Amino acid sequence: MPRYDFRCRECAQTFEVTRSMSASADPAPCPGGHSDTVKLLATVSVGGRSAAPVPARAGGGGGCCGGGCCGG
Ligand SMILES: [Zn+2]
Repeated sequence: MPRYDFRCRECAQTFEVTRSMSASADPAPCPGGHSDTVKLLATVSVGGRSAAPVPARAGGGGGCCGGGCCGG
């Protein structure tokens, strides 16, 4: 289940809420009891390593053309 960071605008406390994605837009009450909170960027725990997209091997043309490095 994804984890979301919220920040309270009343006491400036940052807290995490674990909830389903369908409820990600719901307001989250501050642990201090305040309701004026804003959602920060989502924190997705994927083990600390970002999976870089693996480029598919270009079929015989190389991937260079189109970027200007072929001297076209
Ligand atoms: Zn608060």
